[in-house]
Amino acid sequence: MAWDFETEPEFQRELDWMDVFVRDEVEPLDLVLGSSADRTEQVQRILKPLQAQVKERGLWACHLGPELGGLGYGQLKLGLMNEILGRSGWAPAVFGCQAPDSGNAEILAHYGTEEQKAKYLQPLLDGEITSCYSMTEPHAGADPTLFTTQAVRDGDEWVINGEKWFSSNARWSTFLIVMAVSDPNVSAYEGMSMFIVPTDTPGVNIIRNVGVGSNEAESHRGHAYIRYEDVRIPADHCLGAPGSAFVIAQTRLGGGRIHHAMRTVAQVRSAFDMMCERALSRNTRSGPLADLQMVQEKIADSYIEMEQFRLLVLRTAWLIDKTGDYRRTRKDIAAIKVAMPKVYHDVVQRSMQIHGALGISDEMPFTNMMTAAQVMAIADGPTEVHKVTIARQVLRDYKAVDGLWPSAHLPTRRAAARERLADVLELEVGNL
Ligand SMILES: Cc1cc2nc3c(=O)[nH]c(=O)nc-3n(C[C@H](O)[C@H](O)[C@H](O)COP(=O)(O)OP(=O)(O)OC[C@H]3O[C@@H](n4cnc5c(N)ncnc54)[C@H](O)[C@@H]3O)c2cc1C
Repeated sequence: MAWDFETEPEFQRELDWMDVFVRDEVEPLDLVLGSSADRTEQVQRILKPLQAQVKERGLWACHLGPELGGLGYGQLKLGLMNEILGRSGWAPAVFGCQAPDSGNAEILAHYGTEEQKAKYLQPLLDGEITSCYSMTEPHAGADPTLFTTQAVRDGDEWVINGEKWFSSNARWSTFLIVMAVSDPNVSAYEGMSMFIVPTDTPGVNIIRNVGVGSNEAESHRGHAYIRYEDVRIPADHCLGAPGSAFVIAQTRLGGGRIHHAMRTVAQVRSAFDMMCERALSRNTRSGPLADLQMVQEKIADSYIEMEQFRLLVLRTAWLIDKTGDYRRTRKDIAAIKVAMPKVYHDVVQRSMQIHGALGISDEMPFTNMMTAAQVMAIADGPTEVHKVTIARQVLRDYKAVDGLWPSAHLPTRRAAARERLADVLELEVGNL
């Protein structure tokens, strides 16, 4: 299998175009607009012409296969693109690959019926609407087997009752994908289903929209606490077979996790760039900060960690492309999920430190980046759970030793080596 760290020149040209386009046209949106899930008329007037340029360039939703209107670039190329798009909260929306829509599109494409695809997937892919993934509940998140939201079949309809928590972008979405218990008599792994719920269905009641951090403006508060009260949806709005929610969730979350990691590479890079610029610009009486060894250590440690993380992300993307399957790369996806908040936090913290008071102030982006790093340790499953996944997957390739001593036990190995080489060793001794 080829192992190559070079980018094809034709694709590099696209990346170079993206680099300039995102810097000049998209990054300014982060400074003046609210949530990137907002599709009000004023936002659409700004967004549409930018999306049109991306479409014209052939870079719209290009991680998707041609059957879904993309170029099927795959995860590795998406990883390289996200190293640019991740610099801006708005860039993924401009390029048609924003979360949670990209993950929702993926499961609709995989498990949706033709009718579901026409009604929900196509407008999502065209960037006409946004969507929400509504799984976590107020009393349970990391352990989905504890979810209690129920879906009961009543004639030609499903009736949903329960509460969901941190349903990102629900307030702006046209539909929600809701995970609910549809058969309480079997295990959670077989008794939960996914449902497509139009957000304007009676009974979808947003109790409040929760923000991240302590000072989020109302226009940014995007994580809904939702009560589903006798929400009736047609029977054909079950996504995939009843009872297959866990399998669908795995498909969705695997992609979501690596896409977050790809965009995090971009955030880590910006924190690192700010660190280097400040180190060269700020002086003490002995000269620039960059001449101080403890500052140099911060730069060196950050560079090493950033590059290690980036390579792990790109290698995992490459593996997904090779195997065509998220499940076969579970260990690697879990590894980048665990590495992501730590590298993000550590590089931002060092950069913030080098900026002194300015770094902590609201005139620089560091405090938001610190919160974002912590989000990465929780959203899509906490770090601890992913560490368990890594260990379990790794241990599958090992087995317990027979007998008392480890297989690397030196006296045992030495005795075995002596026995194996007995003829030669005896001869050598005889020749003395
Ligand atoms: C910004 C953001 C956006 C989100 N968007 C969505 C969304 O769109 N849709 C959605 O459904 N959910 C969303 N979530 C929710 C997210 O998926 C959950 O927060 C996550 O799964 C953890 O669940 P919890 O918050 O209930 O934490 P809990 O399950 O209560 O866990 C709390 C802590 O307990 C510890 N812990 C839990 N289990 C274990 C274990 N097995 N071993 C060791 N320690 C453990 C960990 O330290 C963990 O952080 C979002 C969360 C955030 C922060």
